Amino acid sequence: MKTDSAPEKKRKGSRSLRARLTFSFILFAVLLMAVIWIMQTGFLEQYYEIAMEKRAAAGMKLIGAAYSYPADLDLDEFCDRLADLSSESDLYFYIEAVDGTFTISSNEQIGAGRMFMGGGYLTRQAIQMLGESQTGSVSFIAQAGGREDSSILVNASLITSEYRDSIYLVSVTPLTPLGPAVGILSSQLKIITVIALFLGCLIAFFYSKRLAKPVIGLKNKAQELARGNYDVDFDSTGYAEIEDLGETLNQTARELAKADDLQKDLLANISHDLRTPLTMIKSYAELIRDISGENKERRDEHLQVIIEETDRLSDLVGDILALSKLQAGTEVMENQPVDIQKSAESILNVYRVLEEQDGFKLTFTTVPGRIWVMGDERKLQQVMSNPISNSIKYSGDSKDIEVAFSEEDGRIRFSVTDHGIGIADEDKEVIWDRYQKASRQGTRVRGTSTGLGLSIAREILQLHHALYGVVSELGKGSCFWFSLPIAEKDIEADDNF
Ligand code: ADP
Repeated sequence: MKTDSAPEKKRKGSRSLRARLTFSFILFAVLLMAVIWIMQTGFLEQYYEIAMEKRAAAGMKLIGAAYSYPADLDLDEFCDRLADLSSESDLYFYIEAVDGTFTISSNEQIGAGRMFMGGGYLTRQAIQMLGESQTGSVSFIAQAGGREDSSILVNASLITSEYRDSIYLVSVTPLTPLGPAVGILSSQLKIITVIALFLGCLIAFFYSKRLAKPVIGLKNKAQELARGNYDVDFDSTGYAEIEDLGETLNQTARELAKADDLQKDLLANISHDLRTPLTMIKSYAELIRDISGENKERRDEHLQVIIEETDRLSDLVGDILALSKLQAGTEVMENQPVDIQKSAESILNVYRVLEEQDGFKLTFTTVPGRIWVMGDERKLQQVMSNPISNSIKYSGDSKDIEVAFSEEDGRIRFSVTDHGIGIADEDKEVIWDRYQKASRQGTRVRGTSTGLGLSIAREILQLHHALYGVVSELGKGSCFWFSLPIAEKDIEADDNF
């Protein structure tokens, strides 16, 4: 099945896999850098304030808990903690008893200079706001000493305890101006962006090449397949999906090869086998036209030959098709439980008419119960029908035919025995090959013969993994048999047999 080579088309709107991958990588790098830029420059201030607020709140919570809970508070230890926390988190704490009896400042613990500009004024303002507020805590940001670029975060809470006096707890923390930092970050980010884009392009180039390589490999092989090379191997490694695709394409190539074989086989068979009967039909038609047209008896004789040859032609076409399909492996086989004896009986019933018509005696021996085998019932019937019809064809003068089932070692054996012309030893092997007929000089044969029946039967039996064979002696008769594993035996079932 040769086809023209598929031209590489330029498709509108579709870009190559590599181009897409490269573009995606670069886009990813650009977007990533854009997000970093926005976060680092645009939102840095807000982010910093939120972080500082969280830190101050956490410090306040810690101090508040340390003051209010232990029944016997060691004031020195408490002040030490206050100082530690203050220096660790850059927070200035101020505590004042609500009744004004004492004040504690982390400044006193960590030395002068820790009090921020305007800290004293701000703590007073916070305590005043706390007194007016109903919520028990206040928080605000104030400009440090009126300077616009630096500000101070002030938090204040009312801490009550069942063990000691209630206090106002105030924390003050400076918010460092971020302008210079943002400037440094921006210039650094410019360099990082250039490096990231360069690396993005580099990775995109190599990785897209790596990713696209197996796909391009498969594409090239698929083009070979399109040109009619069915032996092309789509095996590719690297990515599971590509491997799966390769396996699917291998299967497709196998199926295409089979279909191609079938086509070739069929053509060869048809041209070879149809010529003989067609020649006969043509010759006899000419005979009728030129010689026997007026003579009814001769004409009927010649017409009978034409009818028989037409039947033969029809049988032949059916057989050729069946065999070609079986050999090419395109025939779909079922695998169902088959009641093999019942199936055989229905086949045998078709031939029963010969008992009355031609004096044949067909005996049928079965195994008790129903015997199930796994397979394709229609095909198995074809396999059973072939030796029965052959035994009739080649029975010679003896008209006794025995069809029998027997059971041995978990298998069911089907056999058809006749006492007809038999087969010579040298022919026993070849009769299974197509178009092979045993030599039978002078022997009368009933019905048409194509030489394909046994080859079809053999193909079907092999697909069923059956054992099969023939026992025959020239002039004495033949026994064709096959055996299949029993799938299930149901002795209790109806006693038809
Ligand atoms: P066909 O019967 O159409 O020629 P088959 O493939 O069924 O084709 O059989 C192949 C050949 O095997 C037959 O032509 C015949 O020579 C031989 N053969 C088959 N069955 C018998 C039989 N029961 N007795 C004698 N010869 C047989």
